[in-house]
Amino acid sequence: MAGESEYTYVVDFDGTITANDLSLELAAYYGGTGYREIENKYRRREIPIKEWLRQMVALLPPDLDQLNRKALEWVSIRAGFNDFLDQVREQKSTVVVASDGFGFYIEPILKAYGLLEKIEFVYRNETVTDSDGQLKVINPHAHKICPVCGNCKAAHVVRIKETGKSVIYTGDGSNDRFGASWSDQICARDRLAEVCDEYELSYSPWEDFYDIIKIEKPDLKDCSDISLCLPQGQGIKDGI
Ligand SMILES: [Mg+2]
Repeated sequence: MAGESEYTYVVDFDGTITANDLSLELAAYYGGTGYREIENKYRRREIPIKEWLRQMVALLPPDLDQLNRKALEWVSIRAGFNDFLDQVREQKSTVVVASDGFGFYIEPILKAYGLLEKIEFVYRNETVTDSDGQLKVINPHAHKICPVCGNCKAAHVVRIKETGKSVIYTGDGSNDRFGASWSDQICARDRLAEVCDEYELSYSPWEDFYDIIKIEKPDLKDCSDISLCLPQGQGIKDGI
């Protein structure tokens, strides 16, 4: 068994820390029929998440203050998250957030709920206003050539594991499968649980963060055979 301070929890934001997916809700609220078409293409895996972000952000009003107000109004933090963060701190482990949504509302929400200071780092996309006054998503944590993810969560997982810490990945979405597949323990719900079944990745089902607190801590493992992408290579893996 690994000892103290050897774990990092990599935790998705939308639909994981929050019960509701705010990127999806903002896109649905402002996007009209365009939203439905883009979402359907994504669900049929005809477009990757990076393209989902690019197309969906064009449907939002270019007013980040207004969008942040909506996100703060709608957000619902999932049960047990604050207690989970306190428990992780007691274990001398760390939590990093990894999000592949619009991202701009994450720190304001975590700050409003007194949670931000308990999190080591937030890897997220940036939504900015460009010179034409339109919103645009920038992906500072994307893989150099892989076209799939805006935020290469798999690269974060691999980099943390290289420091000798085992990684517990917690998520809810189909796109979490890439980062999850490199982790030492997957905690999956909703569509992540479905894709783990599809790709025969073992996982612990979860409902809220009290379940994550109870997860047995894993040892480091080599995931190169079962992983679903190549963050240190070309990114996308043939046949996935
Ligand atoms: Mg999610």
